[in-house]
Amino acid sequence: MNRNTILATLRAESTPWDFIIIGGGATGLGTAVDAASRGYKTLLLEQHDFAKGTSSRSTKLIHGGVRYLAQGNVVLVLEALRERGLLMRNAPHLVRHQAFVVPSYDWWEGPFYGIGMKVYDVLAGKLGLAPSRLLSREETLAQIPTLEPEGLRGGVIYYDGQFDDARLAITLAQTIFDLGGSASNYVKVISLLKANDLVGGVAAQDMETGETFELQARVVINATGAYADAIRRLDDSQVEPIIAPSQGVHLVLDKSFLPGDSAIMVPHTDDGRVLFVVPWHDRAIVGTTDTPINDLPIEPRALPEEIEFLLNHAGRYLTKDPTASEVKSIFAGIRPLVKASDKNETAALSRDHTILISKSGLLTITGGKWTTYRKMAEDTVNQAAILAGLDERPCITPTLRLHGWRDNVESEKSFNIYGIDWSAVRQLINENPIFAERLHENLPYTTAEVIWAIRHEMACTVEDILSRRTRALLLDAKASVAIAPKIAALMASELGHDEHWQKQQVADYGELARGYILV
Ligand SMILES: Cc1cc2nc3c(=O)[nH]c(=O)nc-3n(C[C@H](O)[C@H](O)[C@H](O)COP(=O)(O)OP(=O)(O)OC[C@H]3O[C@@H](n4cnc5c(N)ncnc54)[C@H](O)[C@@H]3O)c2cc1C
Repeated sequence: MNRNTILATLRAESTPWDFIIIGGGATGLGTAVDAASRGYKTLLLEQHDFAKGTSSRSTKLIHGGVRYLAQGNVVLVLEALRERGLLMRNAPHLVRHQAFVVPSYDWWEGPFYGIGMKVYDVLAGKLGLAPSRLLSREETLAQIPTLEPEGLRGGVIYYDGQFDDARLAITLAQTIFDLGGSASNYVKVISLLKANDLVGGVAAQDMETGETFELQARVVINATGAYADAIRRLDDSQVEPIIAPSQGVHLVLDKSFLPGDSAIMVPHTDDGRVLFVVPWHDRAIVGTTDTPINDLPIEPRALPEEIEFLLNHAGRYLTKDPTASEVKSIFAGIRPLVKASDKNETAALSRDHTILISKSGLLTITGGKWTTYRKMAEDTVNQAAILAGLDERPCITPTLRLHGWRDNVESEKSFNIYGIDWSAVRQLINENPIFAERLHENLPYTTAEVIWAIRHEMACTVEDILSRRTRALLLDAKASVAIAPKIAALMASELGHDEHWQKQQVADYGELARGYILV
Protein backbone atom coordinates (compact mmCIF):
# COMPACT_ATOMS: atom_id res chain seq x y z
CA MET A 1 0.00 0.00 0.00
CA ASN A 2 1.61 3.20 -1.16
CA ARG A 3 -0.31 6.45 -1.01
CA ASN A 4 1.82 8.30 -3.60
CA THR A 5 1.22 5.54 -6.14
CA ILE A 6 -2.53 5.73 -5.59
CA LEU A 7 -2.60 9.52 -5.92
CA ALA A 8 -0.66 9.18 -9.19
CA THR A 9 -3.32 6.70 -10.36
CA LEU A 10 -6.08 9.17 -9.47
CA ARG A 11 -4.32 11.87 -11.56
CA ALA A 12 -3.78 9.59 -14.55
CA GLU A 13 -7.01 7.58 -14.60
CA SER A 14 -9.35 8.60 -17.42
CA THR A 15 -11.72 5.61 -17.67
CA PRO A 16 -14.48 5.49 -15.05
CA TRP A 17 -14.24 3.31 -11.97
CA ASP A 18 -16.99 0.74 -11.67
CA PHE A 19 -17.49 1.78 -8.03
CA ILE A 20 -16.18 4.63 -5.93
CA ILE A 21 -16.79 3.91 -2.28
CA ILE A 22 -16.84 6.81 0.17
CA GLY A 23 -15.74 5.91 3.72
CA GLY A 24 -12.91 3.72 5.00
CA GLY A 25 -14.58 2.08 8.00
CA ALA A 26 -15.78 -1.52 8.28
CA THR A 27 -18.62 -0.97 5.80
CA GLY A 28 -16.65 0.79 3.06
CA LEU A 29 -13.57 -1.42 3.36
CA GLY A 30 -15.69 -4.57 3.32
CA THR A 31 -17.60 -3.32 0.27
CA ALA A 32 -14.36 -2.53 -1.57
CA VAL A 33 -12.97 -6.01 -0.77
CA ASP A 34 -16.14 -7.61 -2.10
CA ALA A 35 -16.22 -5.46 -5.27
CA ALA A 36 -12.51 -5.97 -6.01
CA SER A 37 -12.80 -9.72 -5.40
CA ARG A 38 -15.50 -9.91 -8.10
CA GLY A 39 -13.13 -8.15 -10.50
CA TYR A 40 -14.92 -4.78 -10.54
CA LYS A 41 -12.73 -1.70 -10.88
CA THR A 42 -12.87 -0.35 -7.35
CA LEU A 43 -11.69 2.78 -5.55
CA LEU A 44 -12.25 3.64 -1.87
CA LEU A 45 -11.70 7.14 -0.46
CA GLU A 46 -11.40 7.91 3.26
CA GLN A 47 -11.24 11.51 4.50
CA HIS A 48 -9.13 10.74 7.60
CA ASP A 49 -7.38 7.47 8.29
CA PHE A 50 -8.87 4.00 7.76
CA ALA A 51 -11.12 3.22 10.76
CA LYS A 52 -10.75 6.71 12.23
CA GLY A 53 -14.55 6.75 12.74
CA THR A 54 -16.67 4.25 14.67
CA SER A 55 -14.73 1.26 13.33
CA SER A 56 -11.80 1.70 15.76
CA ARG A 57 -14.06 2.44 18.74
CA SER A 58 -16.12 -0.75 19.12
CA THR A 59 -16.33 -3.20 22.04
CA LYS A 60 -14.10 -5.49 19.90
CA LEU A 61 -16.59 -8.36 19.75
CA ILE A 62 -17.39 -10.59 16.79
CA HIS A 63 -20.67 -11.79 18.14
CA GLY A 64 -24.16 -12.95 17.36
CA GLY A 65 -25.59 -10.45 19.83
CA VAL A 66 -27.05 -12.05 22.93
CA ARG A 67 -29.01 -8.81 23.40
CA TYR A 68 -30.83 -9.27 20.06
CA LEU A 69 -31.72 -12.80 21.12
CA ALA A 70 -33.34 -11.41 24.28
CA GLN A 71 -35.33 -9.08 21.97
CA GLY A 72 -36.48 -12.11 19.96
CA ASN A 73 -34.63 -11.02 16.79
CA VAL A 74 -33.60 -14.55 15.82
CA VAL A 75 -32.94 -13.78 12.13
CA LEU A 76 -30.42 -11.12 13.04
CA VAL A 77 -28.65 -13.40 15.52
CA LEU A 78 -28.55 -16.25 12.98
CA GLU A 79 -26.97 -13.99 10.38
CA ALA A 80 -24.41 -12.56 12.83
CA LEU A 81 -23.47 -16.02 14.15
CA ARG A 82 -22.89 -17.21 10.59
CA GLU A 83 -20.70 -14.18 9.92
CA ARG A 84 -18.80 -14.82 13.16
CA GLY A 85 -18.01 -18.32 11.96
CA LEU A 86 -16.96 -17.18 8.47
CA LEU A 87 -14.66 -14.47 9.82
CA MET A 88 -12.99 -16.94 12.16
CA ARG A 89 -12.21 -19.08 9.13
CA ASN A 90 -11.16 -16.24 6.85
CA ALA A 91 -9.12 -14.22 9.37
CA PRO A 92 -8.07 -16.64 12.13
CA HIS A 93 -5.07 -14.42 12.85
CA LEU A 94 -7.35 -11.53 13.84
CA VAL A 95 -10.28 -13.14 15.67
CA ARG A 96 -9.92 -15.18 18.84
CA HIS A 97 -12.36 -17.21 20.88
CA GLN A 98 -13.50 -15.43 24.01
CA ALA A 99 -15.25 -17.00 27.00
CA PHE A 100 -17.96 -14.87 28.62
CA VAL A 101 -19.41 -15.47 32.06
CA VAL A 102 -22.91 -14.22 32.85
CA PRO A 103 -22.94 -14.04 36.67
CA SER A 104 -26.21 -14.81 38.46
CA TYR A 105 -27.13 -13.05 41.67
CA ASP A 106 -30.87 -13.96 41.52
CA TRP A 107 -32.20 -17.53 41.66
CA TRP A 108 -33.89 -17.30 38.24
CA GLU A 109 -30.91 -15.90 36.33
CA GLY A 110 -28.93 -19.15 36.03
CA PRO A 111 -31.70 -21.26 34.40
CA PHE A 112 -33.01 -18.28 32.39
CA TYR A 113 -29.68 -17.31 30.81
CA GLY A 114 -28.63 -20.98 30.66
CA ILE A 115 -31.57 -21.75 28.32
CA GLY A 116 -30.95 -18.55 26.32
CA MET A 117 -27.33 -19.47 25.73
CA LYS A 118 -28.31 -23.00 24.64
CA VAL A 119 -30.52 -21.40 21.97
CA TYR A 120 -27.50 -19.27 20.98
CA ASP A 121 -25.39 -22.47 20.62
CA VAL A 122 -28.06 -24.12 18.45
CA LEU A 123 -28.39 -21.06 16.21
CA ALA A 124 -24.62 -21.09 15.58
CA GLY A 125 -24.97 -24.62 14.17
CA LYS A 126 -21.88 -26.02 12.46
CA LEU A 127 -20.06 -22.70 12.86
CA GLY A 128 -20.49 -22.83 16.63
CA LEU A 129 -17.69 -22.50 19.18
CA ALA A 130 -17.53 -24.47 22.44
CA PRO A 131 -20.96 -25.14 24.02
CA SER A 132 -22.30 -22.96 26.83
CA ARG A 133 -22.91 -24.46 30.28
CA LEU A 134 -24.08 -23.59 33.76
CA LEU A 135 -21.40 -22.87 36.36
CA SER A 136 -21.55 -23.37 40.10
CA ARG A 137 -20.62 -20.46 42.35
CA GLU A 138 -17.09 -21.89 42.79
CA GLU A 139 -16.64 -22.44 39.06
CA THR A 140 -17.83 -18.90 38.35
CA LEU A 141 -15.27 -17.46 40.76
CA ALA A 142 -12.56 -19.69 39.29
CA GLN A 143 -13.29 -18.16 35.87
CA ILE A 144 -13.48 -14.59 37.21
CA PRO A 145 -11.51 -14.38 40.46
CA THR A 146 -12.26 -10.65 40.81
CA LEU A 147 -16.05 -11.04 40.43
CA GLU A 148 -18.07 -9.61 43.33
CA PRO A 149 -18.72 -12.70 45.51
CA GLU A 150 -21.45 -11.22 47.71
CA GLY A 151 -24.81 -12.74 46.77
CA LEU A 152 -23.28 -14.66 43.83
CA ARG A 153 -25.16 -17.92 43.09
CA GLY A 154 -23.33 -19.14 39.98
CA GLY A 155 -23.22 -18.27 36.32
CA VAL A 156 -23.37 -19.33 32.69
CA ILE A 157 -20.33 -19.55 30.43
CA TYR A 158 -20.66 -19.08 26.67
CA TYR A 159 -18.31 -18.27 23.81
CA ASP A 160 -18.10 -15.54 21.20
CA GLY A 161 -15.38 -13.94 19.09
CA GLN A 162 -13.04 -11.08 19.92
CA PHE A 163 -10.89 -9.03 17.56
CA ASP A 164 -8.82 -5.91 17.10
CA ASP A 165 -11.11 -3.61 15.12
CA ALA A 166 -8.57 -1.13 13.67
CA ARG A 167 -6.21 -3.97 12.76
CA LEU A 168 -8.99 -5.79 10.90
CA ALA A 169 -9.66 -2.52 9.04
CA ILE A 170 -5.98 -2.27 7.97
CA THR A 171 -6.11 -5.94 6.93
CA LEU A 172 -9.17 -5.23 4.77
CA ALA A 173 -7.37 -2.28 3.16
CA GLN A 174 -4.42 -4.56 2.38
CA THR A 175 -6.81 -7.17 0.98
CA ILE A 176 -8.28 -4.57 -1.40
CA PHE A 177 -4.79 -4.05 -2.86
CA ASP A 178 -4.10 -7.79 -2.98
CA LEU A 179 -7.24 -8.10 -5.12
CA GLY A 180 -6.27 -5.30 -7.54
CA GLY A 181 -8.48 -2.56 -6.05
CA SER A 182 -7.36 0.88 -4.83
CA ALA A 183 -7.92 2.80 -1.61
CA SER A 184 -6.54 5.95 -0.05
CA ASN A 185 -6.74 7.53 3.34
CA TYR A 186 -6.77 11.34 3.74
CA VAL A 187 -8.77 11.93 0.55
CA LYS A 188 -12.12 13.56 1.26
CA VAL A 189 -15.12 13.54 -1.06
CA ILE A 190 -16.22 17.18 -1.28
CA SER A 191 -18.98 16.96 -3.88
CA LEU A 192 -20.80 14.56 -6.17
CA LEU A 193 -20.47 14.94 -9.95
CA LYS A 194 -23.76 14.81 -11.81
CA ALA A 195 -24.76 14.53 -15.46
CA ASN A 196 -28.45 14.55 -16.46
CA ASP A 197 -29.35 14.49 -12.75
CA LEU A 198 -27.51 11.21 -12.25
CA VAL A 199 -24.51 10.80 -9.95
CA GLY A 200 -21.53 9.93 -12.14
CA GLY A 201 -18.56 10.45 -9.86
CA VAL A 202 -17.04 12.55 -7.09
CA ALA A 203 -14.83 15.55 -6.58
CA ALA A 204 -12.28 14.74 -3.90
CA GLN A 205 -9.46 16.52 -2.11
CA ASP A 206 -6.12 15.26 -0.83
CA MET A 207 -6.19 16.44 2.79
CA GLU A 208 -2.38 16.57 2.94
CA THR A 209 -1.74 18.87 -0.04
CA GLY A 210 -5.14 20.33 -0.96
CA GLU A 211 -4.91 18.88 -4.50
CA THR A 212 -8.34 18.11 -5.96
CA PHE A 213 -9.46 15.32 -8.29
CA GLU A 214 -12.55 14.74 -10.42
CA LEU A 215 -13.20 11.00 -10.57
CA GLN A 216 -15.85 9.26 -12.68
CA ALA A 217 -17.73 6.16 -11.53
CA ARG A 218 -20.62 4.00 -12.71
CA VAL A 219 -21.94 3.93 -9.15
CA VAL A 220 -20.94 5.96 -6.10
CA ILE A 221 -21.41 4.10 -2.83
CA ASN A 222 -21.89 6.11 0.34
CA ALA A 223 -20.47 4.03 3.22
CA THR A 224 -19.84 6.86 5.65
CA GLY A 225 -21.56 5.36 8.71
CA ALA A 226 -22.90 8.00 11.05
CA TYR A 227 -21.94 10.64 8.43
CA ALA A 228 -24.14 9.12 5.73
CA ASP A 229 -26.62 12.01 5.78
CA ALA A 230 -23.92 14.57 4.97
CA ILE A 231 -23.12 12.71 1.73
CA ARG A 232 -26.82 12.23 0.98
CA ARG A 233 -27.22 16.02 1.30
CA LEU A 234 -24.50 16.51 -1.34
CA ASP A 235 -26.88 14.57 -3.61
CA ASP A 236 -30.11 16.28 -2.48
CA SER A 237 -29.92 19.20 -0.06
CA GLN A 238 -33.54 18.62 1.03
CA VAL A 239 -33.23 14.93 1.86
CA GLU A 240 -34.65 13.72 5.20
CA PRO A 241 -31.95 12.41 7.56
CA ILE A 242 -31.94 8.65 8.22
CA ILE A 243 -29.29 8.46 10.95
CA ALA A 244 -30.27 8.63 14.63
CA PRO A 245 -26.77 8.73 16.15
CA SER A 246 -26.09 7.22 19.54
CA GLN A 247 -22.83 7.35 21.47
CA GLY A 248 -21.13 4.47 23.27
CA VAL A 249 -18.24 4.89 25.72
CA HIS A 250 -15.59 2.44 27.00
CA LEU A 251 -13.07 2.62 29.82
CA VAL A 252 -9.77 0.73 29.69
CA LEU A 253 -8.45 -0.64 32.99
CA ASP A 254 -5.36 -2.47 34.09
CA LYS A 255 -5.48 -6.26 33.68
CA SER A 256 -5.42 -6.69 37.48
CA PHE A 257 -9.14 -5.80 37.48
CA LEU A 258 -9.83 -8.89 35.36
CA PRO A 259 -6.82 -11.19 35.74
CA GLY A 260 -8.19 -14.35 34.06
CA ASP A 261 -8.98 -15.06 30.40
CA SER A 262 -12.79 -14.86 30.73
CA ALA A 263 -14.97 -11.80 30.21
CA ILE A 264 -17.98 -10.68 32.24
CA MET A 265 -21.28 -10.09 30.48
CA VAL A 266 -24.17 -8.52 32.39
CA PRO A 267 -27.24 -8.77 30.14
CA HIS A 268 -29.37 -6.38 32.15
CA THR A 269 -27.99 -3.74 34.49
CA ASP A 270 -30.48 -2.18 36.89
CA ASP A 271 -31.16 0.54 34.31
CA GLY A 272 -31.63 -1.96 31.51
CA ARG A 273 -28.24 -1.83 29.73
CA VAL A 274 -25.77 -4.53 28.71
CA LEU A 275 -22.39 -4.28 30.40
CA PHE A 276 -19.19 -6.00 29.28
CA VAL A 277 -15.84 -6.26 31.06
CA VAL A 278 -13.57 -7.92 28.51
CA PRO A 279 -9.85 -8.77 28.54
CA TRP A 280 -8.12 -7.22 25.52
CA HIS A 281 -4.40 -6.86 24.75
CA ASP A 282 -3.55 -7.43 28.42
CA ARG A 283 -6.03 -4.81 29.64
CA ALA A 284 -9.71 -4.88 30.62
CA ILE A 285 -12.27 -2.95 28.54
CA VAL A 286 -15.48 -1.84 30.30
CA GLY A 287 -18.44 -0.78 28.18
CA THR A 288 -20.65 0.52 26.95
CA THR A 289 -23.28 3.24 27.04
CA ASP A 290 -26.03 4.18 24.61
CA THR A 291 -26.62 7.93 24.61
CA PRO A 292 -28.56 9.66 21.80
CA ILE A 293 -26.56 12.65 20.49
CA ASN A 294 -27.18 15.48 18.04
CA ASP A 295 -23.70 16.38 16.79
CA LEU A 296 -21.32 14.09 14.93
CA PRO A 297 -17.81 15.04 16.03
CA ILE A 298 -15.05 12.87 14.54
CA GLU A 299 -13.63 12.71 18.09
CA PRO A 300 -16.69 12.11 20.30
CA ARG A 301 -16.18 12.70 24.03
CA ALA A 302 -17.63 10.80 26.98
CA LEU A 303 -20.24 12.65 29.05
CA PRO A 304 -19.75 12.83 32.85
CA GLU A 305 -22.83 10.64 33.43
CA GLU A 306 -21.46 7.96 31.06
CA ILE A 307 -18.17 7.87 32.97
CA GLU A 308 -20.04 7.65 36.27
CA PHE A 309 -22.24 4.82 34.98
CA LEU A 310 -19.26 2.76 33.81
CA LEU A 311 -17.16 3.33 36.94
CA ASN A 312 -20.13 2.59 39.25
CA HIS A 313 -21.20 -0.55 37.43
CA ALA A 314 -17.67 -1.91 37.01
CA GLY A 315 -17.31 -1.42 40.77
CA ARG A 316 -20.59 -3.23 41.38
CA TYR A 317 -19.47 -6.41 39.60
CA LEU A 318 -15.76 -6.33 40.51
CA THR A 319 -14.20 -6.83 43.94
CA LYS A 320 -12.14 -3.67 43.50
CA ASP A 321 -13.87 -0.40 42.60
CA PRO A 322 -11.97 1.32 39.78
CA THR A 323 -11.28 5.02 40.30
CA ALA A 324 -10.92 7.70 37.65
CA SER A 325 -7.14 7.81 38.16
CA GLU A 326 -6.91 4.07 37.38
CA VAL A 327 -8.46 4.49 33.93
CA LYS A 328 -5.76 3.94 31.28
CA SER A 329 -7.86 5.35 28.47
CA ILE A 330 -11.43 6.33 27.68
CA PHE A 331 -12.87 6.23 24.18
CA ALA A 332 -16.22 6.93 22.56
CA GLY A 333 -17.79 5.90 19.25
CA ILE A 334 -20.98 6.78 17.40
CA ARG A 335 -23.46 4.08 16.33
CA PRO A 336 -24.89 4.68 12.87
CA LEU A 337 -28.44 3.69 13.84
CA VAL A 338 -30.99 3.99 11.07
CA LYS A 339 -34.43 5.48 11.55
CA ALA A 340 -37.37 5.20 9.14
CA SER A 341 -36.33 5.70 5.53
CA ASP A 342 -37.16 8.64 3.29
CA LYS A 343 -40.25 8.12 1.14
CA ASN A 344 -38.42 9.38 -1.96
CA GLU A 345 -35.93 6.55 -1.92
CA THR A 346 -36.15 2.83 -2.44
CA ALA A 347 -35.49 0.79 0.65
CA ALA A 348 -33.74 -1.95 -1.31
CA LEU A 349 -32.98 -3.90 1.82
CA SER A 350 -33.74 -3.28 5.42
CA ARG A 351 -32.36 -5.56 8.12
CA ASP A 352 -29.92 -4.59 10.74
CA HIS A 353 -28.37 -2.66 7.91
CA THR A 354 -30.10 -0.50 5.34
CA ILE A 355 -29.37 0.08 1.66
CA LEU A 356 -30.96 3.12 0.01
CA ILE A 357 -30.75 4.15 -3.62
CA SER A 358 -31.58 7.78 -4.39
CA LYS A 359 -33.36 8.97 -7.54
CA SER A 360 -30.02 10.10 -8.92
CA GLY A 361 -28.46 6.70 -8.24
CA LEU A 362 -26.41 7.36 -5.08
CA LEU A 363 -26.26 4.10 -3.14
CA THR A 364 -26.12 4.46 0.64
CA ILE A 365 -25.27 1.54 2.93
CA THR A 366 -25.40 2.10 6.66
CA GLY A 367 -26.35 0.57 10.02
CA GLY A 368 -25.21 -2.97 10.79
CA LYS A 369 -22.22 -3.85 12.91
CA TRP A 370 -18.59 -4.91 12.50
CA THR A 371 -19.55 -8.59 12.79
CA THR A 372 -21.82 -8.39 9.74
CA TYR A 373 -19.61 -6.18 7.55
CA ARG A 374 -19.09 -8.99 5.00
CA LYS A 375 -22.81 -9.63 4.52
CA MET A 376 -23.48 -5.89 4.28
CA ALA A 377 -20.81 -5.69 1.59
CA GLU A 378 -22.25 -8.64 -0.33
CA ASP A 379 -25.74 -7.09 -0.34
CA THR A 380 -24.31 -3.70 -1.36
CA VAL A 381 -22.25 -4.99 -4.29
CA ASN A 382 -25.19 -7.11 -5.51
CA GLN A 383 -27.33 -3.95 -5.63
CA ALA A 384 -24.55 -1.76 -7.03
CA ALA A 385 -23.81 -4.15 -9.92
CA ILE A 386 -27.47 -4.10 -10.97
CA LEU A 387 -27.58 -0.30 -10.65
CA ALA A 388 -24.41 0.05 -12.74
CA GLY A 389 -25.72 -2.30 -15.42
CA LEU A 390 -22.64 -4.46 -14.95
CA ASP A 391 -22.63 -8.18 -15.49
CA GLU A 392 -23.57 -9.90 -12.25
CA ARG A 393 -20.75 -11.90 -10.74
CA PRO A 394 -21.11 -14.21 -7.75
CA CYS A 395 -19.85 -13.13 -4.34
CA ILE A 396 -16.76 -15.07 -3.24
CA THR A 397 -16.11 -13.50 0.17
CA PRO A 398 -17.68 -16.31 2.29
CA THR A 399 -14.48 -18.27 1.63
CA LEU A 400 -12.06 -15.44 0.82
CA ARG A 401 -9.02 -15.48 3.09
CA LEU A 402 -8.02 -12.00 4.22
CA HIS A 403 -4.52 -10.54 3.89
CA GLY A 404 -1.98 -12.24 6.12
CA TRP A 405 -4.17 -15.34 6.60
CA ARG A 406 -2.42 -17.88 8.72
CA ASP A 407 -3.87 -20.89 10.38
CA ASN A 408 -3.64 -19.70 13.93
CA VAL A 409 -3.36 -22.68 16.21
CA GLU A 410 -3.39 -20.23 19.08
CA SER A 411 -6.65 -18.59 17.93
CA GLU A 412 -8.47 -19.64 21.04
CA LYS A 413 -6.01 -17.66 23.11
CA SER A 414 -4.29 -14.80 21.36
CA PHE A 415 -4.25 -12.57 18.32
CA ASN A 416 -1.50 -12.74 15.78
CA ILE A 417 -2.51 -9.52 14.12
CA TYR A 418 0.11 -9.50 11.35
CA GLY A 419 -0.51 -13.10 10.29
CA ILE A 420 2.11 -14.22 7.77
CA ASP A 421 3.48 -10.65 7.63
CA TRP A 422 4.91 -11.16 11.12
CA SER A 423 8.08 -12.77 9.76
CA ALA A 424 8.64 -9.68 7.57
CA VAL A 425 8.18 -7.42 10.62
CA ARG A 426 10.75 -9.54 12.48
CA GLN A 427 13.06 -9.35 9.47
CA LEU A 428 13.29 -5.59 10.01
CA ILE A 429 14.90 -6.35 13.37
CA ASN A 430 17.32 -8.81 11.80
CA GLU A 431 18.38 -6.11 9.36
CA ASN A 432 18.59 -3.40 12.02
CA PRO A 433 18.74 -4.69 15.62
CA ILE A 434 17.96 -1.20 16.96
CA PHE A 435 14.37 -1.75 15.74
CA ALA A 436 13.93 -4.28 18.56
CA GLU A 437 13.81 -1.36 21.01
CA ARG A 438 10.66 -1.38 23.15
CA LEU A 439 8.92 1.99 22.79
CA HIS A 440 7.66 2.23 26.38
CA GLU A 441 7.77 -0.09 29.37
CA ASN A 442 3.94 0.00 29.68
CA LEU A 443 3.33 -0.79 26.00
CA PRO A 444 4.03 -4.01 24.09
CA TYR A 445 5.34 -2.36 20.89
CA THR A 446 8.81 -2.08 19.37
CA THR A 447 10.22 0.30 16.75
CA ALA A 448 9.84 -2.49 14.15
CA GLU A 449 6.03 -2.27 14.18
CA VAL A 450 6.24 1.50 13.66
CA ILE A 451 8.63 1.20 10.71
CA TRP A 452 6.42 -1.52 9.22
CA ALA A 453 3.31 0.67 9.56
CA ILE A 454 5.04 3.60 7.84
CA ARG A 455 6.43 1.50 5.00
CA HIS A 456 3.57 -0.95 4.40
CA GLU A 457 0.37 0.23 6.12
CA MET A 458 -0.04 3.77 4.82
CA ALA A 459 0.40 5.41 8.23
CA CYS A 460 0.70 9.17 7.62
CA THR A 461 0.51 10.73 11.09
CA VAL A 462 1.64 10.05 14.66
CA GLU A 463 -2.00 9.44 15.50
CA ASP A 464 -2.29 6.76 12.79
CA ILE A 465 0.59 4.88 14.44
CA LEU A 466 -0.42 5.31 18.07
CA SER A 467 -4.18 4.95 17.69
CA ARG A 468 -4.80 2.43 14.90
CA ARG A 469 -1.60 0.67 13.61
CA THR A 470 -0.68 0.03 17.24
CA ARG A 471 -3.37 0.51 19.90
CA ALA A 472 -1.15 2.49 22.28
CA LEU A 473 -3.72 5.28 22.69
CA LEU A 474 -6.30 2.81 24.01
CA LEU A 475 -3.91 0.69 26.08
CA ASP A 476 -2.29 3.59 27.94
CA ALA A 477 -3.06 7.10 26.71
CA LYS A 478 -0.41 8.80 28.90
CA ALA A 479 2.33 6.40 27.83
CA SER A 480 1.36 7.02 24.20
CA VAL A 481 1.83 10.78 24.67
CA ALA A 482 5.28 10.14 26.14
CA ILE A 483 6.45 8.30 23.01
CA ALA A 484 4.84 10.67 20.48
CA PRO A 485 8.11 12.64 19.87
CA LYS A 486 9.97 9.37 19.17
CA ILE A 487 7.27 8.31 16.67
CA ALA A 488 7.32 11.74 15.00
CA ALA A 489 11.11 11.53 14.60
CA LEU A 490 10.91 8.02 13.09
CA MET A 491 8.20 9.14 10.67
CA ALA A 492 10.08 12.28 9.68
CA SER A 493 13.18 10.28 8.86
CA GLU A 494 11.23 7.63 6.88
CA LEU A 495 8.95 10.04 5.02
CA GLY A 496 11.24 13.05 4.63
CA HIS A 497 9.38 15.53 6.84
CA ASP A 498 11.08 18.49 8.55
CA GLU A 499 11.33 19.54 12.20
CA HIS A 500 8.32 21.83 11.98
CA TRP A 501 6.20 18.83 10.87
CA GLN A 502 7.44 16.81 13.85
CA LYS A 503 6.59 19.57 16.34
CA GLN A 504 3.13 20.04 14.85
CA GLN A 505 2.46 16.29 14.91
CA VAL A 506 3.47 15.99 18.56
CA ALA A 507 1.30 18.99 19.48
CA ASP A 508 -1.70 17.64 17.50
CA TYR A 509 -1.33 14.22 19.06
CA GLY A 510 -1.04 15.63 22.58
CA GLU A 511 -4.27 17.58 22.02
CA LEU A 512 -6.09 14.50 20.72
CA ALA A 513 -4.82 12.22 23.50
CA ARG A 514 -6.03 14.66 26.17
CA GLY A 515 -9.55 13.51 25.29
CA TYR A 516 -8.61 9.90 26.18
CA ILE A 517 -7.13 10.74 29.59
CA LEU A 518 -9.62 10.95 32.43
CA VAL A 519 -7.39 12.56 35.08
C1 LIG B 1 -19.71 1.94 21.24
C2 LIG B 1 -19.83 0.97 20.11
C3 LIG B 1 -19.50 -0.37 20.29
C4 LIG B 1 -19.62 -1.26 19.24
N1 LIG B 1 -19.23 -2.55 19.45
C5 LIG B 1 -19.34 -3.45 18.45
C6 LIG B 1 -18.88 -4.77 18.63
O1 LIG B 1 -18.35 -5.14 19.69
N2 LIG B 1 -19.04 -5.65 17.61
C7 LIG B 1 -19.61 -5.27 16.42
O2 LIG B 1 -19.77 -6.13 15.56
N3 LIG B 1 -20.01 -4.00 16.20
C8 LIG B 1 -19.87 -3.08 17.17
N4 LIG B 1 -20.24 -1.78 16.97
C9 LIG B 1 -20.75 -1.38 15.65
C10 LIG B 1 -19.62 -1.13 14.65
O3 LIG B 1 -18.49 -0.58 15.28
C11 LIG B 1 -20.13 -0.18 13.56
O4 LIG B 1 -21.33 -0.68 13.04
C12 LIG B 1 -19.14 -0.06 12.41
O5 LIG B 1 -17.85 0.23 12.88
C13 LIG B 1 -19.60 1.06 11.47
O6 LIG B 1 -18.69 1.11 10.41
P1 LIG B 1 -18.91 2.13 9.22
O7 LIG B 1 -17.86 1.87 8.21
O8 LIG B 1 -20.33 2.08 8.75
O9 LIG B 1 -18.70 3.58 9.88
P2 LIG B 1 -17.35 4.31 10.28
O10 LIG B 1 -16.38 3.39 10.89
O11 LIG B 1 -17.71 5.53 11.08
O12 LIG B 1 -16.73 4.75 8.90
C14 LIG B 1 -17.24 5.81 8.13
C15 LIG B 1 -16.06 6.55 7.53
O13 LIG B 1 -16.51 7.47 6.55
C16 LIG B 1 -15.57 8.52 6.51
N5 LIG B 1 -16.13 9.67 5.80
C17 LIG B 1 -17.15 10.46 6.20
N6 LIG B 1 -17.35 11.45 5.30
C18 LIG B 1 -16.43 11.28 4.30
C19 LIG B 1 -16.13 11.99 3.12
N7 LIG B 1 -16.80 13.10 2.75
N8 LIG B 1 -15.13 11.54 2.32
C20 LIG B 1 -14.42 10.41 2.67
N9 LIG B 1 -14.66 9.72 3.82
C21 LIG B 1 -15.66 10.14 4.62
C22 LIG B 1 -15.31 8.79 7.99
O14 LIG B 1 -14.11 9.49 8.21
C23 LIG B 1 -15.29 7.38 8.56
O15 LIG B 1 -13.99 6.85 8.69
C24 LIG B 1 -20.10 -0.84 17.99
C25 LIG B 1 -20.43 0.51 17.80
C26 LIG B 1 -20.27 1.40 18.84
C27 LIG B 1 -20.58 2.84 18.63
